[in-house]
Amino acid sequence: SVQPATLQQSNIFDGQPGFMTTRLDAVVNWARINSLWPMPFGTACCAIEMMATAATRFDLARFGMERMSFSPRQADLLICAGRVSYKMAPVLKRIWEQMPSPKWAISMGACASTGGVFDVYSMVQGIDTIIPVDVYVPGCPPRPEALMYGILLIQEKIRNSAATSDDEWNAVDQLPETGSY
Ligand code: SF4
Repeated sequence: SVQPATLQQSNIFDGQPGFMTTRLDAVVNWARINSLWPMPFGTACCAIEMMATAATRFDLARFGMERMSFSPRQADLLICAGRVSYKMAPVLKRIWEQMPSPKWAISMGACASTGGVFDVYSMVQGIDTIIPVDVYVPGCPPRPEALMYGILLIQEKIRNSAATSDDEWNAVDQLPETGSY
């Protein structure tokens, strides 16, 4: 039986998450974890490894995300694989804005995360200057196992998030100050 002290601790009016809220978070997060719909944003060689990740040998479907979505309106996990030029920057930002919240982003490879070897006038030196990034997958290119590990980290982040919190919903819509994009 529930003790009075426990009831008092979980009072919804004291600012702490109550029993019902905590359990609802767990259920919602379980559903989100197992039904991520990736939006592939492949611009260069890293995209080949991203495609391999979804193919039979590595089988991304094991994580409940076999449905790659080429419509940002029906995706919640952006995977940016490859270098991004300044000309492509507004496109990447627009796609991110079109994805409904809650949503997450993976930066796959050195070029997406830092510009990589392309330290030149035309290349974005890290997509986190355009959109918020949750997980950076290192490598040139990263192996499919590395991308899958990044996805597992996203799932862990979702598992530990407060699905019913307004702060959680609002935070994902905050874009970095990009000015010229
Ligand atoms: Fe190509 Fe390497 Fe850049 Fe990936 S990180 S897009 S493999 S050059």
